[in-house]
Amino acid sequence: MKISELGEFKFIDRISGMFQDLLLPGYTGIGDDCAIVPYSSEEDYVVTTDMLIEDIHFIKNRIPPEQLGYKSLAVNLSDIAAMGGRPVGSYLSIGIPAETEVEYLDAVMKGYHDLSQKYQVQLLGGDTTKSEKHLVINIAVIGTCKKGHARLRSMAWSNDMVCVTGYLGDSAGGLEVMLHQLPETKDHMQLIRSHHLPEPHINEGIWLAQHPEVHAMMDVSDGISSDLVHILKASKKSAVLDLDMLPVSDTLKNVATKHGWNVDKLASSGGEDYVLLFTLKAGNFEKTNKGFRATFGRDLFPVGEINDEAGAEINWIKNGQQIFSNQHGFDHFRT
Ligand code: ADP
Ligand code: MG
Repeated sequence: MKISELGEFKFIDRISGMFQDLLLPGYTGIGDDCAIVPYSSEEDYVVTTDMLIEDIHFIKNRIPPEQLGYKSLAVNLSDIAAMGGRPVGSYLSIGIPAETEVEYLDAVMKGYHDLSQKYQVQLLGGDTTKSEKHLVINIAVIGTCKKGHARLRSMAWSNDMVCVTGYLGDSAGGLEVMLHQLPETKDHMQLIRSHHLPEPHINEGIWLAQHPEVHAMMDVSDGISSDLVHILKASKKSAVLDLDMLPVSDTLKNVATKHGWNVDKLASSGGEDYVLLFTLKAGNFEKTNKGFRATFGRDLFPVGEINDEAGAEINWIKNGQQIFSNQHGFDHFRT
């Protein structure tokens, strides 16, 4: 069978099953945004790794090198944020085609350094090799988390509210702008910025993990329609999501109206927004949101509800009616 028939997630399930026997007590391995590695009686390490490959994750002449360096680290920090962790250090491995300009690589590292500095993340090591054709960037990040405080995908309860910490669809909108080579208007550039310079919600994740009413958590990398399914599978639940409640920025609304784009589709299945997706104990939204607003100066967005059907289905609502949707997020081999 070809990997394209199996798909990314079933392949990961196979690996995970094969190595289950080696997993030690106290560790959480494959299946969450980070692994959890016991460290002391007070803290755990959270560890993640993510790879970006030229022409798959980025097109070299479409993203400025500084932004490429920034984004490569940002997507990894976002996985630390998704656990409620604080990043401590990163490792950077790069495969570089021989004709690459050193000035280009310096600019990549400048962007990487800027974001490292913002969250005080040390660069602890890595590996450098030649690559035949494509630039390959692999980053691993370690962070710390108070013992027992890390939020897993398996922690959703029935009747929890499903919430996100920011707008959905801007990054996918930015990708559309680039693919259609639209002119450099302020709105278009804003969407491209969301695609190239996502802000990892580190402080938001740490804050949320300090609140016991926050149950499951992950980051939105593939699109909420795909990412929430991971929470539902791990928690053996289903959910009702309301398309009309997905938070969409005015910028995306304006641009989508102008070009006839389907905003519901961008917001539900567009990936790479790197906001946090979490479930919140029923009845807690007002109190939690008040604290969040006092800390971050903006609101959380409720988008739906968890229920106790075990099938990991998302039932979408639009205009108060259930709709049948084939919205899917991103799978590397199937999309
Ligand atoms: P994320 O988008 O949060 O980085 P992924 O969907 O890439 O998560 O991965 C899901 C889980 O599968 C993670 O726990 C990740 O560490 C694990 N995983 C992915 N690929 C592999 C692999 N080749 N070997 C082992 N674990 C993997
Ligand atoms: Mg993730």
